[in-house]
Amino acid sequence: MKFILLMVVVGVVLWMINSRGRKAVPPPSRPGQPPGGPSPMLACTRCGVHVPQPEAVTDSAGRPYCGVPHRDAGPGSA
Ligand SMILES: [Zn+2]
Repeated sequence: MKFILLMVVVGVVLWMINSRGRKAVPPPSRPGQPPGGPSPMLACTRCGVHVPQPEAVTDSAGRPYCGVPHRDAGPGSA
Protein backbone atom coordinates (compact mmCIF):
# COMPACT_ATOMS: atom_id res chain seq x y z
CA MET A 1 0.00 0.00 0.00
CA LYS A 2 2.84 2.38 0.87
CA PHE A 3 4.44 1.56 -2.47
CA ILE A 4 1.33 2.63 -4.38
CA LEU A 5 1.18 5.90 -2.40
CA LEU A 6 4.85 6.54 -3.22
CA MET A 7 4.17 5.92 -6.93
CA VAL A 8 1.26 8.40 -6.84
CA VAL A 9 3.44 11.04 -5.13
CA VAL A 10 6.25 10.55 -7.64
CA GLY A 11 3.73 10.76 -10.49
CA VAL A 12 2.26 14.01 -9.15
CA VAL A 13 5.74 15.52 -8.69
CA LEU A 14 6.74 14.56 -12.24
CA TRP A 15 3.47 15.98 -13.58
CA MET A 16 4.06 19.28 -11.72
CA ILE A 17 7.60 19.55 -13.11
CA ASN A 18 6.27 18.79 -16.59
CA SER A 19 3.48 21.40 -16.45
CA ARG A 20 5.85 24.01 -15.00
CA GLY A 21 8.30 23.42 -17.88
CA ARG A 22 5.49 23.91 -20.39
CA LYS A 23 4.46 27.20 -18.74
CA ALA A 24 7.98 28.55 -19.25
CA VAL A 25 7.33 28.65 -22.99
CA PRO A 26 5.95 32.13 -23.86
CA PRO A 27 2.40 32.06 -25.20
CA PRO A 28 1.86 32.97 -28.85
CA SER A 29 1.12 36.63 -29.39
CA ARG A 30 -2.59 37.43 -29.47
CA PRO A 31 -4.02 38.27 -32.88
CA GLY A 32 -5.24 41.82 -33.41
CA GLN A 33 -2.45 43.32 -31.34
CA PRO A 34 0.04 45.54 -33.13
CA PRO A 35 3.58 44.20 -33.21
CA GLY A 36 5.75 45.45 -30.38
CA GLY A 37 2.87 45.48 -27.91
CA PRO A 38 0.72 48.41 -26.80
CA SER A 39 2.38 51.81 -26.69
CA PRO A 40 2.88 53.34 -23.24
CA MET A 41 0.43 56.02 -22.09
CA LEU A 42 1.68 59.46 -21.09
CA ALA A 43 -0.23 61.93 -18.92
CA CYS A 44 -0.61 65.45 -20.33
CA THR A 45 1.45 67.84 -18.21
CA ARG A 46 -1.29 70.47 -18.59
CA CYS A 47 -4.58 68.59 -18.06
CA GLY A 48 -3.57 65.07 -17.05
CA VAL A 49 -5.32 63.34 -19.96
CA HIS A 50 -3.56 60.12 -20.91
CA VAL A 51 -2.46 59.86 -24.54
CA PRO A 52 -0.51 57.13 -26.34
CA GLN A 53 3.19 57.97 -26.54
CA PRO A 54 3.22 58.20 -30.39
CA GLU A 55 0.38 60.78 -30.28
CA ALA A 56 1.80 62.82 -27.41
CA VAL A 57 3.28 66.25 -28.14
CA THR A 58 6.42 67.08 -26.18
CA ASP A 59 7.90 70.48 -25.41
CA SER A 60 11.57 71.42 -25.44
CA ALA A 61 11.94 69.98 -21.92
CA GLY A 62 10.52 66.62 -23.05
CA ARG A 63 7.26 66.98 -21.08
CA PRO A 64 4.31 65.18 -22.73
CA TYR A 65 1.10 67.02 -23.70
CA CYS A 66 -2.18 65.81 -25.18
CA GLY A 67 -1.97 68.36 -28.01
CA VAL A 68 -0.28 71.43 -29.42
CA PRO A 69 -2.63 73.93 -27.66
CA HIS A 70 -1.71 72.51 -24.26
CA ARG A 71 1.96 72.41 -25.17
CA ASP A 72 1.76 76.07 -26.17
CA ALA A 73 -0.13 76.85 -22.93
CA GLY A 74 2.65 75.25 -20.92
CA PRO A 75 2.57 73.25 -17.71
CA GLY A 76 0.79 76.02 -15.73
CA SER A 77 -1.77 74.96 -13.14
CA ALA A 78 -4.60 77.23 -14.39
ZN1 LIG B 1 -3.85 68.36 -22.11
